[in-house]
Amino acid sequence: MKGSFDMSSPTITWPARVTLCEVGLRDGLQNEKTIPSVEQKLQLLDAVVASGVKVIEIGAFVHPKAVPQMVDTDALCRAMKKIDGVEYRALVPNIKGVQRAFDAGLTKAKLAVSASEAHCLANFNSTPVRMVEGFADCAEFAAQNRMTLSGAISTSFGCPFQGKVPVAQVENVVRSFVKLGITELSLSDTTGMANPRQVYELGTHMIRMFPEVQWVMHFHNTRDMALANIVTAMQAGIRMFDGAFAGLGGCPFAPGASGNVASEDVIHMLHEMGVDTGIDLLKAMDTARMAAGFVGHAAASTVLKAGRCADLVKEKAKAQDNK
Ligand code: ZN
Repeated sequence: MKGSFDMSSPTITWPARVTLCEVGLRDGLQNEKTIPSVEQKLQLLDAVVASGVKVIEIGAFVHPKAVPQMVDTDALCRAMKKIDGVEYRALVPNIKGVQRAFDAGLTKAKLAVSASEAHCLANFNSTPVRMVEGFADCAEFAAQNRMTLSGAISTSFGCPFQGKVPVAQVENVVRSFVKLGITELSLSDTTGMANPRQVYELGTHMIRMFPEVQWVMHFHNTRDMALANIVTAMQAGIRMFDGAFAGLGGCPFAPGASGNVASEDVIHMLHEMGVDTGIDLLKAMDTARMAAGFVGHAAASTVLKAGRCADLVKEKAKAQDNK
């Protein structure tokens, strides 16, 4: 390789560390046909914690008819052993959800809204901004009960109903959240429409406009762009990402499409790049195998199929030593 390229050429700076939030128990399982039991969910949760993940979305407090996969979130919360230093959060649609999360012993809830006006009007007969303004009671309840709220803004990168979602629409939703004092926000690409350039541009823009916000990005790998999106998001300055074990999840608007970006693929890529996650990749791969076993189909995970690059490098070095 010596002399084949100039190492002094302009370099890209990479973060030393990023945080990976595991959303497999919620977003991953939410779209699965075979639903693991509470006992199995507890096993998954233990495995996730043991691998070193510090932020875990354990379920959702939504109407059981809407999302039957999440019906046992209360039971899971009651049964789980909370470990110090790990954040356990649940997705909620409204004040009822926040109260249920509190009753179940959680101190963090994530309020979800769609940035797309067409999506919100079709499903809730409301606009995204009006929906966020309606979360004022959640903010009040959280303040009184020492809970922390975050927000998830889905379809931030595009919407199957509306097509393009103008940046101004996303900004308006962000501003409404910030007005309520909710400053941890996830820009979510539920339907896998985001591309790397768009992610970079929206990411840098949002960080500049709202420096007080702790940003998270949430990608689905519907069209195989999730890892590329994470790379350009890091370039934009994003330091928190969601992933789901085994790449579970799917897309509600594209039956059969692949799901959330697989946590173990994200961890593998980041470690290969020298970006630390604090997570043990081999353990994360074991978690993914367990999850795939519980849902009864193969994991959508390239590192599970091909193995770690690091293992190949080690094997080659060993073969050289034995010569
Ligand atoms: Zn999602």
